Amino acid sequence: MNLLSGKKILLGISGGIAAYKTPLLIRDLIKKGAEVRVVLTPSAKDFVTPLTLSTVSNNPVHSSFFNEQDDSQDWNDHVKLGSWADLLLIAPATVNTLSSLVQARCNNLLIAVYLSARCPVMIAPAMDLDMYSHPANQHNIKTIQNFGHTVLDVGYGFLASGLNGRGRMLEPGQIVQHVIDFFDKNAPLQGKKVMITAGPTYEPIDPVRFIGNRSSGKMGYALAKQALSLGANVKLISGPTLFSISHPRLELVAVETAQEMFEAVKDTFQSMDVIIGAAAVADFRPITCRNQKIKKENTLNNIKLEPTVDILAYIGERHNGSFYLVGFALESENEFENAVKKIHKKNLDAIVLNSLNDEGSGLNSDKNKITYIRKDLSQVTYDLKDKLEVANDIFEEIIVEI
Ligand code: C5P
Repeated sequence: MNLLSGKKILLGISGGIAAYKTPLLIRDLIKKGAEVRVVLTPSAKDFVTPLTLSTVSNNPVHSSFFNEQDDSQDWNDHVKLGSWADLLLIAPATVNTLSSLVQARCNNLLIAVYLSARCPVMIAPAMDLDMYSHPANQHNIKTIQNFGHTVLDVGYGFLASGLNGRGRMLEPGQIVQHVIDFFDKNAPLQGKKVMITAGPTYEPIDPVRFIGNRSSGKMGYALAKQALSLGANVKLISGPTLFSISHPRLELVAVETAQEMFEAVKDTFQSMDVIIGAAAVADFRPITCRNQKIKKENTLNNIKLEPTVDILAYIGERHNGSFYLVGFALESENEFENAVKKIHKKNLDAIVLNSLNDEGSGLNSDKNKITYIRKDLSQVTYDLKDKLEVANDIFEEIIVEI
């Protein structure tokens, strides 16, 4: 699981020797799923080349207000660059750059981007020990912190001057960890517990055969990924699927039958903040499961079935308002009416309706077209989208309610 997936990071590089570490920093951020663009000050080019930076970031890099090499001399719009980013990370930040930030001394593209950016700003200073501890520089760092920006600590050790002390830029891995922590801390579902059921269930007939359904689990897993990227602690209770997922904030419980799914839900659902039933749970199961494989020679005329427990209805019956409960409805006719019936029958806060009549949508597809219906019957219909984008839409609906 990519901890920075979907995050847009604008890296501002100023001209200190630590700039030689920025290609590694970019590579680490990208490995964690981030998209990275680079703005560098003219003097940073003495320490790291734009070619290296554009190659590792997969994006053109910018260092002046217009593209000098380009005949058209295209304008590098600092406002657009700033508004693109989820985070402006300035690393390394030299004494000169820190003082330009404080004074709004807009004499290069990086400072112009900084002054027009509306996103949060994180700064990794790098300089010699005496420069770092000088009261003028410390004053600037405090001023920048008072602007509401995050100024990271510096490392201790060998400095380019040959001296030993505090002033080194943090190592790329440490900066990446700060970026991850930053997004976690500011995530809308930070500290929230989200339970998601996903996938089909398999109800055994004998040791090899089962009654199942065509659910792939894609929607449930997309919801889990989205909840994780929004900072939640996620309990994903999954029927058999082909997907694998791991994350420090994820508890994955693999189950096979509806009964096993129910057992996994039953003891912990009361402690959740959000519960989403995205699983295609079997409604019936064979009353008995044969111990041995049923032989072809033995005629099998019928399989006696009994209802499974309705997990969502069980939770709904115990809904005391301490969590937000969302179900799924896959309907082929009278879609809206049937979905609304389910809201009432299962005591849900909302239901995600998808219709079997929408082409390219639903079970075992990469895409889904949904209508989000609240218990007050207000509804929003979305376009056909990739399931991860659908998960994003669903959580936007949920977040305003919790
Ligand atoms: O009633 P129906 O099965 O169509 O309702 C679908 C919703 O109920 C889904 O959210 C599904 O995950 C949930 N459900 C459940 N337990 C069942 C059957 C359905 O949690 N046994």
